[in-house]
Amino acid sequence: MTEVLNQLFIGGAWVDAADGATMPVDDPATGEILCHVADAGPKDARLAEEAAVQAQAEWARTAPRARSEILRRAHELILERTDELAHLMTSEMGKPLAEARGEVAYAAEFFRWFSEEAVRIDGGYGTLPDGRNRMLLSRRPVGPCLLITPWNFPLAMGTRKIGPAIAAGCTMVLKPAPQTPLSSLALAGILKEAGLPDGVLNVVTTSRAGEVCEPLLRGGRIRKLSFTGSTGVGRILLAQCADTVVRTSMELGGNAPFIVFDDADLDVAVDGAMVAKMRNMGEACTAANRFFVHRSIAEEFGRRLAERMGALVVGPGTRDGVDVGPLIDRTGRGKVEELVTDAVERGARVLVGGRTPEGPGCFYPPTVLTDVSPESRLMDTEIFGPVAAILTFDDEDEVLRRANDTPWGLVGYVFTQGLDRGLRVSEGLEVGMVGLNTGLVSNPAAPFGGVKQSGLGREGGRVGIEEFLEYQYVAVPVR
Ligand code: NAP
Repeated sequence: MTEVLNQLFIGGAWVDAADGATMPVDDPATGEILCHVADAGPKDARLAEEAAVQAQAEWARTAPRARSEILRRAHELILERTDELAHLMTSEMGKPLAEARGEVAYAAEFFRWFSEEAVRIDGGYGTLPDGRNRMLLSRRPVGPCLLITPWNFPLAMGTRKIGPAIAAGCTMVLKPAPQTPLSSLALAGILKEAGLPDGVLNVVTTSRAGEVCEPLLRGGRIRKLSFTGSTGVGRILLAQCADTVVRTSMELGGNAPFIVFDDADLDVAVDGAMVAKMRNMGEACTAANRFFVHRSIAEEFGRRLAERMGALVVGPGTRDGVDVGPLIDRTGRGKVEELVTDAVERGARVLVGGRTPEGPGCFYPPTVLTDVSPESRLMDTEIFGPVAAILTFDDEDEVLRRANDTPWGLVGYVFTQGLDRGLRVSEGLEVGMVGLNTGLVSNPAAPFGGVKQSGLGREGGRVGIEEFLEYQYVAVPVR
């Protein structure tokens, strides 16, 4: 592996924190410290903001083709370095190497997609209804942005924001999660190598998120916040953005229903469940959180799912043949343990898993619970771990009502062989995305995002770049 970047990236230079502070990065598979990175404070954040503000005007004037080509080169560099980036990600976040490689490809694809969008930003010219006035419409970058990302997809959550910001002509300050700063720093190195001008992207790693971000959001120079993380933190940030009317995109938590009807192909449903539940060890906002299975097939579905889950190999993500790595930290694992204990105390049966292993690392076994009580805490809490909780239902109206009975609305999964029913139930679900006979919805070419308390705005797809653009209308009377 090449040298690990561990300083702040401000104005195109690698620098220490102003007060020299550093913070540890842990390996969740061993609990040991991997390395230290700079721990930024408010002064560093101001410098990063200043660099972004200074770079904005010239960057906005840069030819779209030039911005596009930087993204394209970065896309190629990421792919060339797939193994190196995957190892880095696995070491700081824990996911198995095969999944980390998958994330590298997914992350790179956002850069390719937005390199193609950068040159398609359009405007307009039209006659207004009075027949005299003309309307000239153009698109402008929003301006300097603050991007805040979580630890669960350390590379892709960054490229999903940085890609459209670069394409639109915005400069930015990126604050990655403190558990996984290394992937973001490596990404900054790649973008510099790809020719990104100094100051366009600035990265501040910090253990003091609130102290670093709040002054930027309240200061009036940051014009946009793009946040991915929990709904609780999203609410705090929305309140901070209100005073200076900062534009926001919010990709927040989920509580995905996974509905299996009695006419579903059970093989397809179990395959879908494995992806929707086990991608990223269940640490995904898209993870199936509540399995609603028709009463007549619930036992067979549970048996098959438990067999597949029980066959997965748990261990350090760097080891060959491992399917399930450690959870992110002891706090994350503790929460999963508590939710399982609560469900069992309320009558759930454990078909497989359910016991925390001894030893170092934050491992938790793939677990299937059946006969789960609707009163269980995991029904209204993101499990964020490899635990499938199965409930039964009797009819379509009932399951739709129960699936929608949550403040979240990110994604839902529906398994049925009936086209009518599939479309009817998809339309009835209060979510931003539906997997119809599939457990995977994420794709850079599709608009990703939720409704209700799962967020505001979309990332990826044709609309992804819109989040970073403003309209300007020029009125021109023709005499
Ligand atoms: P989190 O605790 O909300 O943290 C997300 C990011 O926000 C981290 O970088 C965190 O840094 C930062 N942060 C926390 N408090 C802040 C504050 N007051 N000011 C500024 N930044 C602050 O979420 P997480 O545990 O990292 O990630 C898991 C959550 O993300 C889940 O709810 C998941 O559903 C959601 N998620 C959503 C999507 C989506 O696209 N909808 C995708 C992935 C994940 P610190 O850790 O230092 O506080």
